[in-house]
Amino acid sequence: MSITTEAAKREYRQFIGGQWVGAGDGGTFEDLDPFTGNVVATVPAGTKEDARRAIESAAAAFPEWSSTPPIVRQGIFLRAAEILESRREEIVSLLAEETGASFGFGMFQMGFVPGLFRQAAGIAYSPMGEIIPSDIPGAMAMGLRRPVGVVGAIAPWNAALILSARSITAPLALGNTVVLKPSEESPFSGGLVWGEIFTEAGLPEGALNVVTHAPGAAGPIGDEFAENSLVRRINFTGSTATGRKLAETAGRNLKRVLLELGGYNPLIVLGDADMEYAVDAAAFGAFMHQGQICMSARRIIVERPIADEFVERLAKKTAGLKTGDPREHDTIIGPLINKRALETVAGRVDEAVSKGARLLAGGEAIGPCFQATLLADVPPDSEFATQETFGPVAAVEVVADTDEAVRRANATSYGLASGIITGDPDKGMSIAHNLEAGIVHINDQTVHDEPQMPFGGVKDSGWGRFGGTAAIEEFTELRWVTVQSGTRPFPF
Ligand code: ADP
Repeated sequence: MSITTEAAKREYRQFIGGQWVGAGDGGTFEDLDPFTGNVVATVPAGTKEDARRAIESAAAAFPEWSSTPPIVRQGIFLRAAEILESRREEIVSLLAEETGASFGFGMFQMGFVPGLFRQAAGIAYSPMGEIIPSDIPGAMAMGLRRPVGVVGAIAPWNAALILSARSITAPLALGNTVVLKPSEESPFSGGLVWGEIFTEAGLPEGALNVVTHAPGAAGPIGDEFAENSLVRRINFTGSTATGRKLAETAGRNLKRVLLELGGYNPLIVLGDADMEYAVDAAAFGAFMHQGQICMSARRIIVERPIADEFVERLAKKTAGLKTGDPREHDTIIGPLINKRALETVAGRVDEAVSKGARLLAGGEAIGPCFQATLLADVPPDSEFATQETFGPVAAVEVVADTDEAVRRANATSYGLASGIITGDPDKGMSIAHNLEAGIVHINDQTVHDEPQMPFGGVKDSGWGRFGGTAAIEEFTELRWVTVQSGTRPFPF
């Protein structure tokens, strides 16, 4: 076992080629609890060289793993789901300790990932190609899907368990080998945990590798993923700025990257909406996990006839959300991930207010937490109006009709998730067709995912899709194979 679980003595190791190892140069850093500031563990500060070794281990494991029968891959994923479930309490508490996740959000993650693994067990048996009619007599032509080789996976800290699991699951289930780079904020719950669980589940050595690194030192590892020719695909979940940088380097190396980036997600509330449902949906979409979800509802666009009552009720609900220690089960708003994040969120709110935005609820930091905050009349030239603000802050915009709602919703460079609350599903469908977003939920808020759904965004929110059959397209290569029965004539 790699890890001593007694809090004060926890010392993590990287997972390379089936071995638990320190950083090649011996460097370490301290992983901090965002609420208490206590040291959660000492973590290897891995380097580009460690990433290279991990990639070579993954490449060495590829021939065996890619030819493993589906029944073996299926069994590993089914066992991984069970092992994970047997560690529920420990992992929910580690999610609170490493990432400030509330009990509710920890349990949500623990519910999602076993389902993801069980569906991946089925992906091992997906049809892997098609027969394509050929005009050459006697020829049989096929499009065969083959695993690509080594996949580099870069995951964030916010929904650490789900997003790291998602980054390795379809690639592994489809016969690829993987090097995972978790965020420096969640080295265990967003990375090393999978080394432990998949080893116990029977995954062969080298098929999964996990490289950790110190804060601010992700760049060289990302560069190694993009530049090392053994890595055939990269998937990245994180901010638009970082994803853009990674895609530029990958592009120079003609390497495909799946990018799941930020969002500035609109929730549209139409005049015919059920008031109580709309208020509850908006509060959940905006404030779950203190708004640190790529799908969080950042703008609530409401039609004028119900705007006054809706805004009043939402402001009241926002002001009543309990803020504090994520270990207390009724806490809704836990800490932001670190001091820098807290300063950014506070700075964006202050700037918007100084330029004329109205503060309807919240607006203050309480220790490491930021209160659930509702703004109105956010000026278009404020930072909040143009950039994703990763915290518990949402802005209300009042519109005259559905056309204006759609115009406002699309007036952003992002395009990840959106929601439309209406009593008329047909109207909802017609709006859904006009929204520039990868995900639209009618009569639901923006924060929602299921393992089998095509998850991803458009515009600055990225490209490519995780989930279900879309993942097969992402993590396999389509190869054209022909078989000529007999001979065919050649002109010379
Ligand atoms: P956030 O600021 O919200 O953490 P990031 O996009 O910086 O968002 O982080 C998402 C993931 O990207 C994390 O695993 C982080 O370590 C990683 N990352 C940060 N900078 C780079 C980089 N230059 N290349 C590759 N990955 C990076």
